[in-house]
Amino acid sequence: MNRPEPTPTETGAVFLDRDGTLIQEAHYLSRPEQVVVFPGVGPALKRLQDAGFKLFIVSNQSGVGRGYFTLADVDAVHRRLEADLAVDGVRFEKIYVAPEAPDQPSRGRKPSPRFLLDAAAEFGISLARSYIIGDKWIDLECGWNAGVARSLLVRTGYGAELEATAGQELSKAVIINDLPQAAEWILANAGSAAPLDSGGKVT
Ligand SMILES: [Mg+2]
Repeated sequence: MNRPEPTPTETGAVFLDRDGTLIQEAHYLSRPEQVVVFPGVGPALKRLQDAGFKLFIVSNQSGVGRGYFTLADVDAVHRRLEADLAVDGVRFEKIYVAPEAPDQPSRGRKPSPRFLLDAAAEFGISLARSYIIGDKWIDLECGWNAGVARSLLVRTGYGAELEATAGQELSKAVIINDLPQAAEWILANAGSAAPLDSGGKVT
């Protein structure tokens, strides 16, 4: 697979799904008090950040487009999440939200790679040195569409269900228990010389 060579000034990023990946999945979560960060997420993200990765959240929030809650509600949830993780010194470069319902035109709704391409342009990021972590097929696909080094599937949220029901199409993904383990995997494998084209399960 051909990927553009990263220039020396370009750093990698880790793109993070929100619900079911960073925080507990809750049906159309819309209130700050519903935010429950998974154990170990703060220190794990801080380690990625200290290793030079820029951190982004990329979240589909169709509840806005469906009229269940507003973008202001989404912002309030994100302020809570940012405050919770700031305790561990974590800072997100940017939080991308696609508020449209699935039947509405959307610029960035996953699996569109649009927000990852935007981040690459705005923040000088090499997507070939970047990763995406999520609990749904659309997260993995978003990463592949953008040309990241690897897409990682966590077993939290909907991840275990996807692992159980999906077939061979998951073979390109790294399948791993949770966000902290995903961070460890990236720290252990980033910088390995060649892009890897086959996936695997990590138990
Ligand atoms: Mg999710």
